[in-house]
Amino acid sequence: MEDRQDKRDDGAQDEYEKICYVCRRPESKAGPMITMPGGMNFCHDCMQRAFDSVSKNGLDLSKLQNMPYMNLNLSDFPAGNQQNTEIPLKNKIKKKKDAAEKKPLTMKDIPAPHRIKEKLDEYVIGQERAKKAIAVAVYNHYKRVILEEEKDETEIEKSNILMIGPTGSGKTYLVRTLARLLDVPLAIADATSLTEAGYIGDDIESVVSKLLAAADNDVERAEHGIIFIDEIDKIAKKKNTTTRDVSGESVQQELLKLLEGSQVDVPVGSNQKNALTPMTTVNTSQILFICGGAFPDLEEIIKERLRQKSSMGFNAHLKDEFDEDPDILSRVTTADLRAFGMIPEFLGRLPVLVTLQSLTEETLIRILKEPKNAILKQYTRLLSMDEVKLVFEDDALRWIAQEAIRRQTGARALRAIIEEFMLDIMYEIPKDPDIGSVVITRSYLEKNGGPRIEMRG
Ligand code: ADP
Repeated sequence: MEDRQDKRDDGAQDEYEKICYVCRRPESKAGPMITMPGGMNFCHDCMQRAFDSVSKNGLDLSKLQNMPYMNLNLSDFPAGNQQNTEIPLKNKIKKKKDAAEKKPLTMKDIPAPHRIKEKLDEYVIGQERAKKAIAVAVYNHYKRVILEEEKDETEIEKSNILMIGPTGSGKTYLVRTLARLLDVPLAIADATSLTEAGYIGDDIESVVSKLLAAADNDVERAEHGIIFIDEIDKIAKKKNTTTRDVSGESVQQELLKLLEGSQVDVPVGSNQKNALTPMTTVNTSQILFICGGAFPDLEEIIKERLRQKSSMGFNAHLKDEFDEDPDILSRVTTADLRAFGMIPEFLGRLPVLVTLQSLTEETLIRILKEPKNAILKQYTRLLSMDEVKLVFEDDALRWIAQEAIRRQTGARALRAIIEEFMLDIMYEIPKDPDIGSVVITRSYLEKNGGPRIEMRG
């Protein structure tokens, strides 16, 4: 077993570049390395500099650019093997493939929009329009990648996506499902943790660093990946501030170049740059960026605009006409988003606008039952291993959905609610081998009695 593990590690090591212990440049930048006992590698430049400093001045360590090991964390090395100073894999960069070895993306590799949507349907319930828009945007995105790789003259605009929808309506879930079905690496970052370079918080490039880690430090794989930046509404321009807006407007400004496509230098295996972390360059022009946020109060801005428009002329509408519209978000325009505090250049780089609806009672019930990994399917399967049948009465499901709506965290509440009462069931039922089925009733959930238990036979 151990042998096989070792072999696998060797294979994995082969795919990575050596990195100079002194200047931290990888082989692809610094040329062939000289490997010393213990697995340390030095590039020719650093080796030469070391010799020069010894022969001219005696041993003067200050002539060496940096001292190795300073940023290596011993916990990164396999336990009990801390004598072996080989750099851990997470700090290494995968070797770039030769042009001949590289498999270019072809139309066969990208599923058509209806296929993408079909796959999304298996997991994500409702949100039909959003799934359709995303399927098309993703399809176009990878077509653009193909054209770019073929050096085609037609310049197709990047189809980065801005996704707006209430908490727990499935934004993150959609993106995760998408990345899994396309088999591309995904990085999820939170806009609230990003700050302008030089301030406390994560630099903008840290999102690319995360993607590189998700792609096992394989730059080429990362360059075809997806970056999801959540809570993007939190970097809206702050109104009426006198201090420098380091986490709002400036972050939007700094994101521009990433969204559009640029070469960024990112640290490998860490989200902090320092002299000793190996760096590599990632081109973001083929990375699909999806930004998501709940944008509270955006509905008010939309309604206000619609009211102003409709209060003019003959067709003046009633003042509260739009208050009733449950899907008011879908009428959003970039002007509304500008009024919210997003800067026009930023919006310009997210040309695909997708809105998600808040989940209704009916959709929440479907989410409990229908997805491939539906919560009810999971519990039913677990209890079937005790040969017990688990049944939820329709009225009980309705109660769960209503409770989720009361908690105002969308579908996220469902699992929490179910776990609250399933714990007792999962604990008690295996005690009695004669139990054949358990029926969860509404009155049980309302705490007016126990579940209905039916015995075997
Ligand atoms: P947010 O919109 O806040 O990003 P999430 O995507 O994190 O919401 O949703 C939380 C959880 O709720 C998901 O992990 C998923 O299990 C469930 N969920 C949300 N929306 C849906 C949906 N439309 N279909 C199926 N499950 C959903």
